[in-house]
Amino acid sequence: MSQAVAVKKDLVIVGGGPAGLSAAIYAQRSLLDAVTLEREALGGQVILTNEIDNYPGVPNADGFSLVDAMQRQATELGAEVAMDPVEAIDRDESTGRLLVRTATTSYDAAAVIVAAGAQPRRAGFKGEERFAGHGVSYCATCDGMFYRGKQVFVIGGGNSAAEEALFLTRFASKVTLLVRKDHLRAQSALVQELDENDKVEVRLLTSLVAVDGGELPSRLTLRDNATGNTYEETYDEGSFGVFVFVGRVPETGLVDGLVDLDEAGYVVTDERMATSTPGLFVAGDVREKPLRQIVTAAADGAVAATSAAAYLGRPVEG
Ligand code: NDP
Repeated sequence: MSQAVAVKKDLVIVGGGPAGLSAAIYAQRSLLDAVTLEREALGGQVILTNEIDNYPGVPNADGFSLVDAMQRQATELGAEVAMDPVEAIDRDESTGRLLVRTATTSYDAAAVIVAAGAQPRRAGFKGEERFAGHGVSYCATCDGMFYRGKQVFVIGGGNSAAEEALFLTRFASKVTLLVRKDHLRAQSALVQELDENDKVEVRLLTSLVAVDGGELPSRLTLRDNATGNTYEETYDEGSFGVFVFVGRVPETGLVDGLVDLDEAGYVVTDERMATSTPGLFVAGDVREKPLRQIVTAAADGAVAATSAAAYLGRPVEG
């Protein structure tokens, strides 16, 4: 596809989740000529979350409505938002400008904010890829309803696994949480809720080794991590599902070689969200930080846009 003429922009924002949309809002307020590019649906991981009870000022929000409100706020302020997956970001060493290439357009940007978020991490059991979308899921909000009256197994011991296991009790007849260690990492309040829910069984020191079956899963191979022994459980084909919530992998592919990463693979920034490449900022789950939440993603986006405006010598929101 020909991309002869690059579209000049002050700022290109990559990612339309809370970090990217917050950056879009703040870019408008600094009067930057900016575009926000999203790969699939706007919202990122937040739209996979059914219930959000810790975003200040919006009690009992659901992920989709929250991000929809953020998007409306951005576009009502004049932000340009496009569904156009970014394929590459390069720096023109002679000009210091950043070239952002999508499937349809090339952008020549003075500054870029990458708020590309993270993807669900695979648990690594045999059969995971084979049954993904047919018995193995990474999204309870999307797929929970297909397990009405059925049994589900949830893998993971963090906040996501605990919250999604509780959410799945609305549909499933039984939810078995498989935790590889002898304790959960989830917040105490969630652990207590799991304990108190009759539909939930927590199996500590248990790993899922393999899922087998025909078109749909029918057999699980599990390992007791206390003894190292494996055992099998067989069910009617399609009578259960496996939900995986074992953390996330940051989407750093686009900035590979342009930024420094920490040991866990997250982008290293200063407190202005600046990376080691001038004009390239990152925000949200893709960066190294102690707390990955919607509220911190939104805060990162605001800081990154304000820093980009300062980098461009534009008036900065007071
Ligand atoms: P976490 O990294 O917090 O937890 C991952 C869990 O999965 C751990 O229990 C880990 O076990 C387990 N795990 C990792 N790899 C495997 C594997 N291959 N097989 C089996 N188990 C595995 O990830 P989350 O997605 O839960 O949370 C990500 C971030 O988002 C966290 O900072 C969390 O606090 C935050 N969050 C906050 C929420 C809230 O505040 N309401 C809701 C959801 C997420 P081990 O402990 O053994 O490493």
